[in-house]
Amino acid sequence: MNLSGQIIRVGVVKRRKSPYISRKTIGKIGEYMMTTPQTLPLHSELPVEMTWDIEVIYPDQTAWENDFTAIGDYLAAAVAFRGRLGEGPAVLAEAFRAGDRLNRLVEKLYTYAHLRSDEDTSISAHRALVDRASARYAEISGALSWFEPELLALPKARLKEYLAAPELQFYLRTLTEILRDQPHTLSDKEERLLGLASDVFASSARIFSQFNNADLKFPVIADEQGREKELTHGNYLNFMESPAREVRHRAFNAMYDTYAQYRNTLATTLFGEIKTHTLTAQLRHYPSALAASLHEDNVPVAVYDNLIVAVRRHLPALFRYFKLRAKALQLDRIDMFDLYNPLVPECRVEVSWEEACRWVREALRPLGEEYGAKLDLAFSRRWIDVLECRGKRSGAYSGGCYDTNPYVLLNFTGTLNDAFTLAHELGHSLHSYHSREAQDYHYADYRIFVAEVASTTNEMLLHHYLLDRCTDRNLRLYLLNHHCDQFRGTIYRQTMFAEFEKLLHALVEADTPLTADLLCREYFALNAQYHGDAVAPDRRIAMEWARIPHFYYDFYVYKYATGLAAAAQLSRNILSGAPDKLTAYLEFLKAGDTKDVLDIMKDAGVNLATPAPIDAALADFSATVDQLAAELG
Ligand SMILES: [Zn+2]
Repeated sequence: MNLSGQIIRVGVVKRRKSPYISRKTIGKIGEYMMTTPQTLPLHSELPVEMTWDIEVIYPDQTAWENDFTAIGDYLAAAVAFRGRLGEGPAVLAEAFRAGDRLNRLVEKLYTYAHLRSDEDTSISAHRALVDRASARYAEISGALSWFEPELLALPKARLKEYLAAPELQFYLRTLTEILRDQPHTLSDKEERLLGLASDVFASSARIFSQFNNADLKFPVIADEQGREKELTHGNYLNFMESPAREVRHRAFNAMYDTYAQYRNTLATTLFGEIKTHTLTAQLRHYPSALAASLHEDNVPVAVYDNLIVAVRRHLPALFRYFKLRAKALQLDRIDMFDLYNPLVPECRVEVSWEEACRWVREALRPLGEEYGAKLDLAFSRRWIDVLECRGKRSGAYSGGCYDTNPYVLLNFTGTLNDAFTLAHELGHSLHSYHSREAQDYHYADYRIFVAEVASTTNEMLLHHYLLDRCTDRNLRLYLLNHHCDQFRGTIYRQTMFAEFEKLLHALVEADTPLTADLLCREYFALNAQYHGDAVAPDRRIAMEWARIPHFYYDFYVYKYATGLAAAAQLSRNILSGAPDKLTAYLEFLKAGDTKDVLDIMKDAGVNLATPAPIDAALADFSATVDQLAAELG
């Protein structure tokens, strides 16, 4: 999970807030608060070397308050440019700089506040700092919303002059990005109306979110020991990972039977959301909602379509994996609730913190000495908050901003999975560190499209490092299974979602209302195609569409699939030992937002405009399935 750039910069390039939720932590926030044993230490009781050093951001709250007060002046300085953008290139350059100064400061304030608060989410004084920084941010966003419309309203000749002006050469990419929006920007009056209506347009997603997170209750079911537990979003995956098949089956039935009770309501909220996407795209003169969404990253629709075609071509390898699962689990055929449980439940590897750090360091050695030196800073400068403690935010993430170190929150308990999480989050942190070091603040934040590439590349490197060295059969099985599941969950499953989203938007664009019956029928059919006859059909899965929050973010999930395909390619490149390939990768880490995402990936060594990276990644998956089959005998 990556929280860098969680705050969208305002007034410069439009960025949408990341709806990214790590699959590792999905829905677990809040649940932790209920289950944290009171015996855990307080954050202040942890050994200092196992905590992150955030005093280097602000030594105390007074320093934070001083910067918070200074925001007023920075905001006034930025707002003073309103109505002046046409005065000349030097004035516009100054306006960009004033906006950057303001955003930089508010990001620093927010970063400190949320890191402090995440140490113990029960401390309301720290939560209050987060709320104040967020409120200030929202205020700034509103106060600078005139920037792009004012720029786009300038006479064409003036804009052309700006593009050639030496004072603005540094901002050329930003200007070009803003101008790319011009054909989709409406008149002042229309933009004002859309702006006023934007809150109402968000209603479907808000209703779904409230329903799904606050109101929806699942039944109590019995776990392996017969203890009654309330099913939650947070513990569903734990039930799905249970070695006891009847426990998985109970949780699966309880989950989908609950959603089925609200099928009409949930079909209506989803229909409302998709209609909002299609209407907005139509009003802004895009050929489709898909084109509108991909426009943001300048990604051609063909990339999306190619992904689906390529993944479908490799479905037989997935079916082979399902059949292998059935064999390992001694079943004739697996069910939809047999997809997440580990194949080797008895394999429990204890990994000490020191061992995990050593593994990660060694596994990332192929990235070179310069990378290794930066990685060492994560430990010597205490970027990482390692241990669980009372009230600590659950899961794991990488955060930080331009004026702070990168920071990693972990809840390290010594499992093998925790070691992979460490490699993953440090991938984010080192990516941010390279970008921030190489780029001015203005271009330092990379886009969501590339955000999971470096983190997943590190996971791949750790996988290969461990697999090459391990002789224990169970551990090998665990590693191979983990690797297969990553491809299954990130490429196959997310592409199935991407295909479903595409279908829903096409239906609505053809004036077909999305009823619960239609959604269930289409989802069931698509799910069957992505599981073949290797998985027993279960009518309940027809309701799965109702519980996927990502369907409320238009055309987002395909980025997971392209991200993993890119990481698979890049880790192969790095391990090949070719110096030019390593250089290309390190340049990718430094690229920030200086180029279009497809160009950044292409320069790094992955051409996502062609299906080749998807084909190669799924050939890798297929080979791993073969290895797994060989190990299982
Ligand atoms: Zn991540």
